[in-house]
Amino acid sequence: MDYQSGQHGGAVEPADTAAPPQRLSRSPEEAALAAQRRFRQALIEAGLLIPTGVDGLYGRSADFEAIADGLNAAIGALGADQQAEVMRFPPAMARQDFEASEYLKSFPQLAGTVHSFCGSDRDHHRLLARLDAGEEWADQQRPTRVVLTPAACYPIYPVMAARGPLPPQGRVVDVLSYCFRHEPSVDPARMQLFRMREYVRLGTAEQVAAFRAQWIERGSALAQQLALPWQLDLANDPFFGRGGKIVADGQREQKLKFELLIPIHDDAPPTACMSFNYHKDHFAEVWPLRTADGARAHTGCVGFGIDRLILALLRHHGFALARWPSPVRELLGLRHV
Ligand code: AMP
Ligand code: ZN
Repeated sequence: MDYQSGQHGGAVEPADTAAPPQRLSRSPEEAALAAQRRFRQALIEAGLLIPTGVDGLYGRSADFEAIADGLNAAIGALGADQQAEVMRFPPAMARQDFEASEYLKSFPQLAGTVHSFCGSDRDHHRLLARLDAGEEWADQQRPTRVVLTPAACYPIYPVMAARGPLPPQGRVVDVLSYCFRHEPSVDPARMQLFRMREYVRLGTAEQVAAFRAQWIERGSALAQQLALPWQLDLANDPFFGRGGKIVADGQREQKLKFELLIPIHDDAPPTACMSFNYHKDHFAEVWPLRTADGARAHTGCVGFGIDRLILALLRHHGFALARWPSPVRELLGLRHV
């Protein structure tokens, strides 16, 4: 497809040149990397993403942000009947809550912690001397009480637990945050800082199951309205290490995670753009989250990857927003863009 016009036309051709002769002999992994690089380069050349020199860390253009605003409004409209409490946190949370959440048990490789200089004048001189000499200086930094948010819903569980038992109908919370995951990649859809919009359900197991089923329907309907190809699949999180494989298998067996996948790169598997998660009573083991009758509360969430959805839209409808299908422009409030 031609990124610039949004016309569908079979296989994606490289934006710059014709296919190199060695293309046929590439492994699937190499082909995927090449497709990801090609798409990223096209996004950068079009000014949609602004490179920083770090894989996975990008600035966004006005058009990119207009689509983000449109998606957030459309998701908000989908959730208008949820009586959700809106909460917005900065992209960081208390280290104490992060430690309690057991994130480090499951995903130490993804976590990002905030460190600062806490030394004396002498330490400062040493820091500057090391900088001048091009030597490593970061080991002089000390951990602060702040860590970067790994998923938009993480900051809310301790807040909810502190309020006491849930009301009989439970609660729904609407969150949106930039999230950090240390997974540098040439794939523009795998960022280190990206936005996640979530609805989070806290209540009984039945309430959470009904919520998740409803949002699988709604998420699929949204992909349809956005005129994007999609498929739903059972999924697992990238649990760390050898033990992690067993946890991931268990997560699949219990069907705790589903993803809505959209093809973004021709030569690579489709990309998870939404996820539908059931945490069972994990967060009630960590914090005193209780239902109205004193039982451990169950939780679940639906997560919309805002930046991935934008990339999927750009991939399928082209870089010229004015030429996007009218119903999609209408839905996203892009009539005047
Ligand atoms: P997860 O908690 O992994 O299910 O993430 C929720 C959603 O956030 C995913 O379905 C993606 O759309 C999005 N997401 C996760 N990781 C990334 C990333 N590295 N870059 C961009 N979006 C991401
Ligand atoms: Zn969540």
